[in-house]
Amino acid sequence: MTTPLPEFAVELMNVRKQYGRHVALRNLSLQVRTGELFAFLGPNGAGKTTTIKLIVGLLRPNAGEVRVCGHEIGVNGVSAKAQLAYVPDQPFLYEKLTGREFLHFVAEMYGLSNAERDRELKSLSTRLDLLEYYDQLTESYSHGMKQRVALAAALLHRPKVLVVDEPMVGLDPRTVRVVKDLFIEHTRAGGTVFMSTHTLDIAEALADRIGIIHRGELIAAGTLAELRSQARREQSLEDIFLALTETQNG
Ligand code: ATP
Repeated sequence: MTTPLPEFAVELMNVRKQYGRHVALRNLSLQVRTGELFAFLGPNGAGKTTTIKLIVGLLRPNAGEVRVCGHEIGVNGVSAKAQLAYVPDQPFLYEKLTGREFLHFVAEMYGLSNAERDRELKSLSTRLDLLEYYDQLTESYSHGMKQRVALAAALLHRPKVLVVDEPMVGLDPRTVRVVKDLFIEHTRAGGTVFMSTHTLDIAEALADRIGIIHRGELIAAGTLAELRSQARREQSLEDIFLALTETQNG
């Protein structure tokens, strides 16, 4: 019998995060449902990367709780992290491994059999166009190439929750299309995507729900229709984003 999926894949409850005396997040509460593609938007310095690092357990909150698939990350870190894959805005690969070696290493770390690994990689390496430089050291890769390998590594073990910080930066238009399709397929298969982005048209096209953070506080969250009604009149996500973040200024 399989365990039923929890209602919420990601939950932040009254989270506060300070760097020294600087308060980056103040009393942030946010819930992302299982199977949802959630886009997290906000001006520079608003607190997006800080929130993401708290979700994946790279930072600890000063107050509040962070849960992934019901596991509190500060208490059951290993169980929470087993549900996750994380792609940071600056993808990290081991430079002295080739793309193939890195992906095999990740597969082994997540306990995939060779058959599972090869099946997943066959599809991902073709779709993300990795084959041409598969056997070169990753230190020679461009940013976009690194990003593609990092995305393949993240999807390889079919995580319940995929957390991605600015996933489309540096990718060519063809790869952007592939990544959009992969994210949609991931949620259709019951997975969850938490994505921070400045690319509003991607958020508008892909997201089931959108959250907007400004100066460490969540100022709006909901479907595009709900955000439209909150911002009144405004139609495009760009208009809504500008209206909501401007009215909060000063
Ligand atoms: P951007 O869109 O520019 O990437 P962001 O929304 O991801 O921004 P964060 O990187 O989370 O924002 O930063 C939130 C706030 O916390 C900013 O004021 C930033 O200067 C500050 N901050 C982030 N990391 C640190 C750190 N390690 N030490 C001190 N302050 C930090």
